[in-house]
Amino acid sequence: MFLLGISVGSFLNVVADRVPAGKSILSPPSHCFNCGHVLTARDLIPIVSYLVLRGKCRYCGHAIPARFMLVELATGLLFILVLIVFGLSWQALMVAIMGSFLIMLFITDLEQDVLPQIIVYSGVAVALAFAALRPLTGTTPGIISSLAGLGLGFGVFILIWAVPKIFKKNIMGFGDVGTAGLIGASVGYPVILVAVYIAILAGGLAAAMLVVFKIKKLGQPMQFGVFLALGGVISLFCGHDIADALWQLHML
Ligand SMILES: [Zn+2]
Repeated sequence: MFLLGISVGSFLNVVADRVPAGKSILSPPSHCFNCGHVLTARDLIPIVSYLVLRGKCRYCGHAIPARFMLVELATGLLFILVLIVFGLSWQALMVAIMGSFLIMLFITDLEQDVLPQIIVYSGVAVALAFAALRPLTGTTPGIISSLAGLGLGFGVFILIWAVPKIFKKNIMGFGDVGTAGLIGASVGYPVILVAVYIAILAGGLAAAMLVVFKIKKLGQPMQFGVFLALGGVISLFCGHDIADALWQLHML
């Protein structure tokens, strides 16, 4: 599962780089960003190549962003966690795939401040397909819960997106609206509330720290999609448990 995960992570890196730029994910073959040299199999072994080459291009010596290795590692760990929590099951497959969508959105939002529609809406379609197949596979959420989550995530965030526009302010991009819908479709209702809860807590905390350490100024926009993705992944694993806990604490 770890080897599968780091290979998938390698693919997610490619998608996250190419899709926002409108490039094909199939051609041209992987090449160095700096010198353009086409990379061969020994340059493309997930994690290993990065470590062997000490983070530098084999051909021109230009630094390779550490993100490539970190994403491979994170996806490998995600897949191990999926196996531990869900065993070899349809639910494991569903969480691994939806988690992969959220990793791609995490990267594109963090690095390029975009949440590409093609990734968001492909994710929604896949999540709804899993929900619709529940009678065969037994995965959660089912289709009613999934549609309710989609509607709630999309509906609430379209208000947060649209209302400030009346006052000529931009709080977030429309990509965040779609991403909230995607997470809603993946985790269903009521777990979507947990995902948003985590996103707002983590986003608020991060915003406060960025201001305290003077990395950003107060009121400067930040990439909320990053925190939505984080809340989404956590909710895919233990959203129901967190929902129960919040319910008992009268916080949901
Ligand atoms: Zn190079």
